[in-house]
Amino acid sequence: MSSAFLQCISCAAIFPTTQPLYQCSHCGDLLDVNYTLDPLDPTEIKERWRQRRLSRRPIDISGVWRYRELIPFYGQEENIITYPEGNTALLSAPRSARYAGLRSLQVKHQGFNPTGSFKDNGMTTGVTQAQILGMRAVMCASTGNTSASMAAYAARAGMLGIVFIPEGQVAFGKLAQSLDFGALTLQIRGDFDVAMSLVREIAPEIGIYILNSVNPFRLEGQKTIAIELLDQRGWDVPDRIVVPGGNLGNSSSLGKGFKELYDWGFIDHMPRITIVQAEGADPLYKTITSADQESLVTVYARTLATAIKIGRPVSWKKAMRAMTWTDGWVTEVSEQEIADAKAIIGQDGIGCEPASATTLAGVRKLMNQGTDKPISDDEDIVLLLTGQVLKDPDYTVRYHRGELYEDYVTETRVIHSTGKIRSTYANAPIEVPPDKEVIKRLIEERLSQLPKI
Ligand SMILES: *Cc1c(COP(=O)(O)O)cnc(C)c1O
Repeated sequence: MSSAFLQCISCAAIFPTTQPLYQCSHCGDLLDVNYTLDPLDPTEIKERWRQRRLSRRPIDISGVWRYRELIPFYGQEENIITYPEGNTALLSAPRSARYAGLRSLQVKHQGFNPTGSFKDNGMTTGVTQAQILGMRAVMCASTGNTSASMAAYAARAGMLGIVFIPEGQVAFGKLAQSLDFGALTLQIRGDFDVAMSLVREIAPEIGIYILNSVNPFRLEGQKTIAIELLDQRGWDVPDRIVVPGGNLGNSSSLGKGFKELYDWGFIDHMPRITIVQAEGADPLYKTITSADQESLVTVYARTLATAIKIGRPVSWKKAMRAMTWTDGWVTEVSEQEIADAKAIIGQDGIGCEPASATTLAGVRKLMNQGTDKPISDDEDIVLLLTGQVLKDPDYTVRYHRGELYEDYVTETRVIHSTGKIRSTYANAPIEVPPDKEVIKRLIEERLSQLPKI
């Protein structure tokens, strides 16, 4: 039998998994879920995972629990709370490739998850652990997607979800989900970082389990994104995988996933992980480019990509570790670069939310720029798209209508604005009278602009 334990990432102290714990009680640093594993035969297990795709059991269908040999903390299968989740598409993105200057490019779209973001990959394991601990309620601070996901999984598990969101800074699609799934939704007058501190103080005092990515069980589920990606590619390891960086749970869990696959003999080398942040929310970029990489450079976060609007990321040390393990790098991109990259991903018929588009913008930037870690045009790259396009329709419509600003206040219409963003690839709706001839002329004009075959 495999067994799981919690282990501090700094002082290596070990704790049992039988109580809620988010940081080392000796040195205060973050915890990993680690395992003593039975001997594994990677060839046999890879085949077992493929066979499970034929199964009708929810835990085999789930793109997280299918790989349960590598997340064996759940005790008995009856404990598992699965939607199911995962099984996200791996797509080729030729227009995006051209835009970045690459020969080809793949995207793995975590927006194909049940609540529309990669948070579901981690929420299934987090809520499963909550179930094991006998929790009746779970809590998180969120820029939107964590709350949407937690609200859904809590409802599925019969627990109360309690979400803290920064007032006025959460995309509408995400707020809608949290309300619809019955979570107690508290709008905090403050930003994400304020909401996060409140959760960390309040939850332990009233015995409620925290499901932010400070919870190491969340990261165990997100780790399986790495496994599923390689399974989908027939275990052909890409040169590089590119992810947006917010609270840095996702990049941390990918790092742990690839490292374990390497240590346990499933792959013979690791892909490089590249993390991309928004210029206005770039604490990891500032930290990794500073002389002293031992302490986090915090920022007051500003970006329209609300999912990564975080100035004090909880998992920064785990993300730094992932950079070391995989010879990775961090870069940052502007609001204009994010907006345009998002429109290009849309032109591939894929779409994503603004935070996800940092990945394409980041690759394009590293291709063009004279950096010390440049990308070459024949690299085999996978972008991890984190959330789906319908999460933040306001942003997308504003961009295509030419009404997107870095800073704006709305009351059904824009009343104050500065820092207009160019709608470079806008596809605005066109107002037309209900007149057949006018409409036909308009369509014919557009047809005449199509390239000749
Ligand atoms: C949560 C989230 C991120 C940021 O992920 P971290 O693990 O916090 O770095 C990026 N994009 C989307 C869509 C998200 O929901």
